[in-house]
Parts: sequence; C-alpha cells; structure tokens
Amino acid sequence: MINGFLTCTVCRRSFASDEPRWRCDCGGILDLDFAPGIDRRALAGRPPTLWRYREVLPIRDDANIVSLGEGFTPLTAIELEGRTVHLKLDHLSPTGSFKDRGASVLVSHAKEIGIGHVVEDSSGNAGAALAAYSAAAGIRCRIFAPAGCSPGKLAQIRAAGAALTEVNGPRRETTRAVLRAAESTWYASHGWSPYFLHGTKTCAYEIVEQLGWRAPDVLAVPVGNGTLLLGAHLGFGELRAAGLIDRIPRLVAVQPANCAPLHRAFMAGETTVPEVEASPTVAEGTAVDAPIRGAQILAAVRATGGVVLSVGEDEILDALSLLLGRGHCVEPTAAVGMAGLRNILPGMDRDEVSVVVMTGHGLKAGERLAGFRNGTPR
Ligand SMILES: *Cc1c(COP(=O)(O)O)cnc(C)c1O
Ligand SMILES: [Zn+2]
Repeated sequence: MINGFLTCTVCRRSFASDEPRWRCDCGGILDLDFAPGIDRRALAGRPPTLWRYREVLPIRDDANIVSLGEGFTPLTAIELEGRTVHLKLDHLSPTGSFKDRGASVLVSHAKEIGIGHVVEDSSGNAGAALAAYSAAAGIRCRIFAPAGCSPGKLAQIRAAGAALTEVNGPRRETTRAVLRAAESTWYASHGWSPYFLHGTKTCAYEIVEQLGWRAPDVLAVPVGNGTLLLGAHLGFGELRAAGLIDRIPRLVAVQPANCAPLHRAFMAGETTVPEVEASPTVAEGTAVDAPIRGAQILAAVRATGGVVLSVGEDEILDALSLLLGRGHCVEPTAAVGMAGLRNILPGMDRDEVSVVVMTGHGLKAGERLAGFRNGTPR
C-alpha cells in the first residue's frame, strides 16, 4: 500500500486511507500520511500532464486514474514596472480552473475506494471540476452552490451531468445543506480532503520544473479555502525533502478585503481564524468567510516568511484590466493574486523571481467581462 493513513490533525487518530470518511469522529481535519519522493531523471519523455509526477500521487493502481489531460499548464512571463513576473496559466485547465488538479486526484481516489456517488459544495469552479471528473469516472455527483454564482459556472456543472442544488442565503446555508447530504453520501470536499491538496501540489512541481529545477522566490495566489496555497506548500516541501530545491518560496496569500478572514487573523498574530462578516466581492472564488484549513494556511504562510495581503475591489479590477489588456483572459478572482503582488513588487529585490497563478478562465464569468473595453472597466 503506497498511500498510507489518514491522520487526524486534532486527536492524531489514524484511519486506513481506503476508509470512506472525510473527517475524524472528533470533527478534526484529516491529513494524508504520505511523504513520497521523485527522481527528476525519471520524468524525461513522460506526457505533459500532472500525472508525470506519478510517484508522488497517492493512487495505488493506474487503472483508477481519472484524467482529462490536466496539468503542465504554460508558465509565461510579462514585464511589469521594469520587472519580469511569471504567470502560471492554470486557467487553461480542462474545466478552466486550477481545481482540475485537485479534482483529478480526488476523483481517482474515490474510484479507487469504490465510491459511486459524491456530493460537494462550491461557489462554482470546484463544482465544475468535480462534475467533469465524476462524469469521466462514471460517478454520480451532486453539487450545492450558493444562489447567484456566475451562471456560466452553474451551466458548466449541469452540462457535465451533475445534479445542482442552488441554496439561498449566506454561504453557511450551502455548507449546512451539503453536510446534511454528506450524512448519506461521500463528501468529496475540496476544503476537507487531503487528496485534493495532493493534486494541487503539482502546481509547485511544474513551476520548479519549468524554471529549470529551481524554486521561485515568491509565489502569489488568491486564497479562499487555501487549497492552492496549501497544495503549493506541500509540493515545495516535498521537492525540498527530495533535494530538488534548496528553499521554499515566500508564499503570498491574497484575499479580497471584502472577505478577508485570513488577512485579519494574520495581522492580529492569531493562529486560528475567526469567521468574519463578509460583504460581496467581484472575486467570488475567494468569498470564503470561514476557511476550513485556516490554521494550516496561517502556519504555512508564516513558515515560509510570506504574508497574507488583502486587496480592495478597485485593485482587483485594476489587476484584471492589466491582465486582460495583456491578452490573458482570466476571471476576476484570478486577478486577486496579481493585485496583491503589485503591492509588494516595489519592495522586492530586482533579481527575485516571482510567480502568480492565473486560477480561473475569463469565459467562466463572461458577463463580468462584458463591461471591459481595451482592458479598462467602464
Ligand atoms: C477556488 C478558486 C480560488 C481560491 O482557491 P482556494 O482553494 O479556495 O483558496 C481562486 N481562484 C479561482 C478562480 C478559484 O476557482
Ligand atoms: Zn480526531
């Protein structure tokens, strides 16, 4: 068995990884006890998907891999205020967001342990990814989404054949609805499942490989539940343990000021994350008022010497204009990382290498882009 145990982060109880459970009996988050290594010489000639890092992905049998060709998205660069900023184009993933990384590994695991029906809650992109990978695996899928999400994302969920339940009221009503469903159906939660993080960690592997086997100095990402940030931290940690990089980049977690529980907790020096009263934000993918792995996110950012930033709605739209105007068709949430990086760029050394992940495609929120002309909101 290559994929070890699920261990509770609170009471340390452990469970076999083929047990269909999504949290501990004590309510604690489960992490996967799985510390793999990889030999980069083995990668030559492997296909350009995230499954090229096969040894570090916690799926036992190749026959259970559910893949739509995700991963190995381009790493490109733009000039910004006389500096080079690398962009990781994860919006070019099969369903148009980085969530495909996590969904591919999570649904492969579901298939491996014989799950036939999953439920998940999402503001859109995680649901669209889970719906697509469930369809590819022949697994039934129901998504709970807060009413009022981008219609394109909701259409995408239905188009993949998933059942969609829109839930009125604040985000916590959607959470309540999915937890009820999770009493009888497997909860394929991107926020809870460690398998999702073992998928998103491949973003770090790719960035390092694409930079010629070196780590960047800074990685900036938009953060809601932190699955990309925590995955990146896990991936860079594994790469360092394998001796492939010598340090972990400073992780810059960026949140919209209108919904910034992590920023508030980080600035207050807290180690846990109290829920905040959020107001609406154009960056819907980061509208998470109570991030499930909040304490882990704060610890990861601090361990790397990074920072949690918050950015205003105008800064998000400015960064979005900049990206659209350079030809990168991303959704507003995907501009949050760039908005944050712009605020710290002047204080960075000129030779430092920074990467920002473009997390979601602009066509998912086409109605929001309708107001932009020549990259400028009107
Ligand atoms: C989900 C999402 C995010 C935030 O990811 P978390 O894992 O919740 O931190 C950022 N951008 C886009 C486009 C997303 O869909
Ligand atoms: Zn426990």
